[in-house]
Amino acid sequence: MDSYDVIVVGAGAAGLFCAGIAGQLGKKVLVIDHSAVIGEKIRISGGGRCNFTNLHCGPSNFLSMNPHFVKSALSRYSSQDFIELVKKYGIAFHEKHKGQLFCDNSAKEIVQMLLSECELGKVKIQYPEEVQTINQCDTGWQVETNLGNYVSSNLVMATGGLPVPAIGASDFALTFAKKLEIPVISTRAALVPLAFTSGIFSKMEDFAGISFPVQISAGLKKKNYGTANFAEDLLITHKGLSGPAVLQASSYWQEGEPVQIEWLNQEKWETLTGNPENRLKTIDQLLIEFFPSKLAKEFATQLGLFGVKWAEVSNKNKELIINHLCRWSIKPAGTLGWNKAEVMVGGIDTKALEGKTMMVKKYPGLFFIGECVDVTGHLGGHNFQWAWSSAYVCANSLINAHSEKTHS
Ligand SMILES: Cc1cc2nc3c(=O)[nH]c(=O)nc-3n(C[C@H](O)[C@H](O)[C@H](O)COP(=O)(O)OP(=O)(O)OC[C@H]3O[C@@H](n4cnc5c(N)ncnc54)[C@H](O)[C@@H]3O)c2cc1C
Repeated sequence: MDSYDVIVVGAGAAGLFCAGIAGQLGKKVLVIDHSAVIGEKIRISGGGRCNFTNLHCGPSNFLSMNPHFVKSALSRYSSQDFIELVKKYGIAFHEKHKGQLFCDNSAKEIVQMLLSECELGKVKIQYPEEVQTINQCDTGWQVETNLGNYVSSNLVMATGGLPVPAIGASDFALTFAKKLEIPVISTRAALVPLAFTSGIFSKMEDFAGISFPVQISAGLKKKNYGTANFAEDLLITHKGLSGPAVLQASSYWQEGEPVQIEWLNQEKWETLTGNPENRLKTIDQLLIEFFPSKLAKEFATQLGLFGVKWAEVSNKNKELIINHLCRWSIKPAGTLGWNKAEVMVGGIDTKALEGKTMMVKKYPGLFFIGECVDVTGHLGGHNFQWAWSSAYVCANSLINAHSEKTHS
């Protein structure tokens, strides 16, 4: 039976990064992945350019039942630390929007960088290989796969979240945790487009492709992950709403709840309509100041005010305009699900883990890192930063089996 200091299950962002560091710290590391191609989520991320971190990444960019949990890992390995590594490899990058850093050329460069780091650490990476059973043993953990049996002092679970099963996503970490009675927070798709059965536009297809800035909020104050408000672009699609604004809101949205969309800023609307020169303009003409003409006409029609001059609008209808366009509340029918989601909300309950190490309190030598943990980043490079930060603290906290295992 082959013996290792560390076995990492999952050769994605967190698993490869952790393995490379551990190997370079002198540990004997084996990485096992069930996919035929590894690092696929990195490759497809950020439209093929990988939004690998965010300059402004901090604890407020994450959802977790314990919002303080991320602080330790993020402070020990920050976005600046990862940027230094990217620079060391000569990977060209640029800031796109609100601190989001993307590769100039290809996300494949990040995958190659992680593999090079693993090579420096003499890490053995085996794939495709199916882990069949994992058991605790005297020297740590015994892992049985379709290709062999291994023992290791440390076991790192880095199998990611549930989005995009077609490229290898699985619930392996969650099922394994439940078997060991490690608590798991229920999961749902996040950073995902929202679907609507009715109530937005007469014919969605007529408006598909239109994108413009809105303010959006979702979530209930007293429930789970709380509420959030984002100022981002909204994209109308054939099936519903998407774009950064809606993806961000989807992480906080739960079935049956409404989302609030401010299509139109009330102050700007009141400034425009308060100008005497605009008294004789029709509602649709005024709305064109803010929306593409097709949408301005649609909103004016929905309000029953198409062609009506501002001077002729009753107070009741003025209020209707504000309620409809500045405080629009609608219940999505659902999300487009795991195939279209970028991340998972929920996962391994952080209460079971040490924030400084990612080790399971009850099981020395067992770690969960990356997306399988109940830590979900906002859109914009925060999810990868969590993968890097959680992997870093884990790799630096691996135990020397015999001395520490005896405490278990
Ligand atoms: C389309 C898309 C675009 C995205 N773009 C961005 C972006 O630009 N910026 C950003 O910050 N985040 C982005 N994300 C999110 C980001 O990709 C993930 O949060 C991140 O990859 C999580 O890292 P991880 O290592 O935890 O999991 P992953 O990178 O998903 O790696 C998990 C690995 O575990 C393997 N695995 C799963 N089950 C098993 C098993 N049973 N046995 C063995 N191996 C297993 C998988 O094959 C995979 O290789 C995007 C996600 C998607 C889907």
